[in-house]
Amino acid sequence: MDKRDYYEMLGVPREASSETIKKAFRRLAIKYHPDKNAGDKTAEEQFKQINEAYEVLSDPSKREAYDQFGHAGVGAGVGGGPAGFEGVQDFADFPNLGDILGEMFGGRTRGRARVTRQGEDLQAEVEVSLKEAATGTTVPLKVGRFEACQACEGSGSRTGTSPKTCPECRGSGTVRFSQGFFTLSQTCRRCRGEGSVIEHPCPECRGGGRVRRTAQVTIRIPPGVREGTSLRISGAGQAGDRGGHPGDLYVIVHVKEDPVLVRQGDDVICEQHLSFPQAVLGCEILVPTLDGTVTMKIPPGTQSGSMFRLRERGIPHLGARGQGDQLVRMIVDVPTKLTEHQRELIREFAQAFEKKTPEGGPAGFVKRMFGTP
Ligand SMILES: [Zn+2]
Ligand SMILES: [Zn+2]
Repeated sequence: MDKRDYYEMLGVPREASSETIKKAFRRLAIKYHPDKNAGDKTAEEQFKQINEAYEVLSDPSKREAYDQFGHAGVGAGVGGGPAGFEGVQDFADFPNLGDILGEMFGGRTRGRARVTRQGEDLQAEVEVSLKEAATGTTVPLKVGRFEACQACEGSGSRTGTSPKTCPECRGSGTVRFSQGFFTLSQTCRRCRGEGSVIEHPCPECRGGGRVRRTAQVTIRIPPGVREGTSLRISGAGQAGDRGGHPGDLYVIVHVKEDPVLVRQGDDVICEQHLSFPQAVLGCEILVPTLDGTVTMKIPPGTQSGSMFRLRERGIPHLGARGQGDQLVRMIVDVPTKLTEHQRELIREFAQAFEKKTPEGGPAGFVKRMFGTP
């Protein structure tokens, strides 16, 4: 069977530019697309033929061969595509199908394949005390990761050699072929889309350009970190393939609970017990803070449950100026075990109190002291 001329099929002159060919193909592809011509065998055949024509004329080297030798120059015919794809039946096997359809009908152009690959991100966790979270600290961390191979400086090629252009795709990273109505392109399997192959792999990394190591990374914990804060250490993840950028390391910070100080935002809260006489007469007590112990003056008549504030004794605001406060809640202990002598003194106290407040009496005193309903 005589094959029609590819230029004729697309209705363009032989000297047409690639842009003209592309436009002509797109116009015809839309016209004969099976979606628009369901059941029309002629349209289906037209669609196949223009795909075949475009497949050849859109590829400069195939077009050159076609111009010189005609159909014989490109081994033309649907199904006569490059070797290595026989038996592929399902469109799901072609990850680029969507791209090709997009290119055909949406005018999308595809970028050239990337030569290097960025390294993956890594995640790790560290634990610090509440005090370390407040002051900031550094934590040594062992990270198992791929690092650039030093023997080949990450290139993957044995020292003194370099990768050569991939013979399968001639450096483009993609292979085009026909399947049914469609001209498809697929990432080159030989070079995995890189466009080049390593002829003499580096013996250290077997061509990958990276080797696995356990690295010691120092993590700087900024003052004010919270439970679950995620720190990004730029470039501390896996090394990239063949000199690609390394990924990042994400460190999740866990803040241990403190036995005395409870964090609430950037404030810390603690409780201090006062004896009944301390609360009544006032006193000085020692209070633990994030930054050592401080002396606190308790005024006479301090009520149980009252809160005192130590300004700027809390946690620094993360990444901002200033810091929180420390709140101290007073708990007045009511003595439970008394000697007979102490009991006598309390009775005396109660009587003295009664005389001063005739309207109250012991019940009124209890009411005012402890707020019983
Ligand atoms: Zn190497
Ligand atoms: Zn290739």
